[in-house]
Amino acid sequence: MSAADAVLARLAAVLPDGAVVTDPDRLASYRTDTSTGTPTGTPLAAVLPRTTEEVAAVLAAAYAHRVPVVPRGAGTGLSGGANAVDGCLVLSLQRMTAVREVHEGNGYARVEPGVVNQELRDHVRGHGLWYAPDPASKDTCTIGGNVSTNAGGLCCVKYGVTRDSVLGLEVVLADGRTARLGRRTVKGVAGYDLTGLVVGSEGTLAVVTEATLRLRPLPPPPTTVVATFADLPSAGRAVEAIMRRTTPALLELMDRTCLRAVEAFRPMGLDTTAAALLVAQSDLPGVAGATEGDLILAEALRAGATDGYRSEDAEQADALLQARRTVIHALEALGAWLLDDVAVPRSQLAEAVARVADVAAARDVVIGTFGHAGDGNLHPTIVYPHGDAAAEQRALAAFDDVLDVALDLGGTVTGEHGVGLLKRRALTAELDPTAAVVHAAVKAALDPLGILNPGKALPVR
Ligand SMILES: Cc1cc2nc3c(=O)[nH]c(=O)nc-3n(C[C@H](O)[C@H](O)[C@H](O)COP(=O)(O)OP(=O)(O)OC[C@H]3O[C@@H](n4cnc5c(N)ncnc54)[C@H](O)[C@@H]3O)c2cc1C
Repeated sequence: MSAADAVLARLAAVLPDGAVVTDPDRLASYRTDTSTGTPTGTPLAAVLPRTTEEVAAVLAAAYAHRVPVVPRGAGTGLSGGANAVDGCLVLSLQRMTAVREVHEGNGYARVEPGVVNQELRDHVRGHGLWYAPDPASKDTCTIGGNVSTNAGGLCCVKYGVTRDSVLGLEVVLADGRTARLGRRTVKGVAGYDLTGLVVGSEGTLAVVTEATLRLRPLPPPPTTVVATFADLPSAGRAVEAIMRRTTPALLELMDRTCLRAVEAFRPMGLDTTAAALLVAQSDLPGVAGATEGDLILAEALRAGATDGYRSEDAEQADALLQARRTVIHALEALGAWLLDDVAVPRSQLAEAVARVADVAAARDVVIGTFGHAGDGNLHPTIVYPHGDAAAEQRALAAFDDVLDVALDLGGTVTGEHGVGLLKRRALTAELDPTAAVVHAAVKAALDPLGILNPGKALPVR
């Protein structure tokens, strides 16, 4: 019997009916994530466990027969991390959707990996608590995917990335053993930080079956500040000045291409001649909120903003954030798009945006740059006409040029979307050679047969 037949027979014996999908039409929906231009293979089957024990049984079977396993959440990833490889089991965690515990006094929740980010936020709101990490895909992406990509979002500038909200994990190792990592306390330094090792490992080291997540008190309604700039260096100076004085709840940037795209998509009176718009929020309560908002506005004006405004109430605060919320949809409306993700030191933000504009001109593509300015995390988004193969090639070349810009400015090739298949070469360029060897050693220690998400997230050797 082939390894494929043997593993399917074993899975049929240990899993309930309906947990293994081999029908080609249904399998098609498990082949790719949301990335553009990444290769994908044909899976042997998709497996849909409901319990940690079932996940362990799947991995034990795969390990015994050396069959590759690709863990999968909602497939919203943008780097090909959840793309199938030929002959693999796609291990979908989407049926594991229980919130196992919310502890109000200790401020944590224990949740299964298939819980959707926004559903967790809604759930804990009922306890008067808040889960901070807020990727823009929060209505669909899962906690398992967020943990495995160390997802970011708008609130990261103040509350950190997913790693900063993960206290502990339950994981299943490549050979089917289950391990508890980390703790439930906010502080704790016993042993290596294995939780941190698994966070962001993109399904290559272990499968996450439960996350213990830090919760915070619900923040009060925010105050929003917007400021427009006639030139990029002033906007860059404003970001540095604001971050030197305070830590806003979000601090976002949009360049002129984004402003024009948003205004064309949904007119809201934006200044389309401006070089950049900054949007910031304060979530400090009451009078203090007004004070922090005023301080942010004052710093923006001192740095050279041509115009600035602070919201007076919650409705205005929300309306002023709309331009930033709309930007992906506005760029999407212009054509096919490739969303890049890099981070640079804050002092290099303006230079990075300017150099990305040079890339757009050199490659003859449109690039709208927006992003989480407070973190130095930019999303230059390359837009080209649908169905234009030559333009797609230029867009892919521009995508790589943007990564070079980030490295050249002392930054990183991914701020939050991960390496997956898309950025393995770029990761190789970024990593110190000895660090690359350590990556390989960690992978070999935890996944000696190399069955967990092979070909993803690691430097090219
Ligand atoms: C419109 C849009 C906006 C986005 N905005 C943001 C943003 O603001 N910030 C951000 O960080 N990302 C963003 N993303 C990217 C994406 O949503 C995140 O990477 C998200 O964390 C992926 O979650 P998922 O459940 O879809 O995981 P998937 O795409 O299914 O998987 C992602 C990776 O995690 C692995 N994985 C998934 N579940 C598990 C598990 N239980 N155990 C082990 N490995 C697992 C997969 O193998 C894969 O490598 C955006 C995507 C889109 C389409």
